[in-house]
Amino acid sequence: MKILIVEDEPAIAEVVAAYAQREGYETSWAPDGLTAMALWESEGADLVVLDLMLPKLRGEEVCRRIRARSQVPIIMLTAKGGETDVVSGLDEGANDYVSKPFSPRVLMARIRAQLRPAREVRPKSEGAAPLLCAGGRIEIDLERVELRKDGTPIPVTRSEFLIFSTLASRPIRTWSRDEIIRTALGEDYEGFDRTVDTYIKNLRKKLAEPGHENGWIRTVYGFGYRLDDAETQP
Ligand code: CA
Repeated sequence: MKILIVEDEPAIAEVVAAYAQREGYETSWAPDGLTAMALWESEGADLVVLDLMLPKLRGEEVCRRIRARSQVPIIMLTAKGGETDVVSGLDEGANDYVSKPFSPRVLMARIRAQLRPAREVRPKSEGAAPLLCAGGRIEIDLERVELRKDGTPIPVTRSEFLIFSTLASRPIRTWSRDEIIRTALGEDYEGFDRTVDTYIKNLRKKLAEPGHENGWIRTVYGFGYRLDDAETQP
């Protein structure tokens, strides 16, 4: 497994590389956005650790360009308290983020979580068959980690997939943002509650169609979200 570390501060890149190598990952390092794209194209990676403030090409742009071609997990490194950065990074398709200054052990836990097979973290209340919702039009394939609408795979990130399958695992239930984070993304996830809104917004963008502008996800004001799917039986 190879991790591409995109970080312009050599000291930080070295620490991340040292921790990753100790856990058995290969690493490569790009000190700026253009080098990151060149390395991505020549060598690829199984996961990308991406600083946002980068010379030559911003981290958000690196994220957008990689995401246009690949669903590789991307973990962003953001300035402390930079909620706007977090939201814009998640908008570009990043899977997760860690705020600077960060503990390398926390970063490694996030990396392991992204690389862990999805079947270990999927919601408990499902079987092997794809879960159907939206009157059978949306299929959640937990074996293949694939969301399909009318048979066509929808390119969603891992976190988006886990959040949608959590909502669909109990279709009439309303989930609070906190419950969504804990159930879909794990107990140890230290996200802002509001990042759930960003994931939901992205899911809606990908699933929406005329008559279903909300992408089958209903906002329950003051509570959270639930599947907007009258035809799904509990
Ligand atoms: Ca930087």
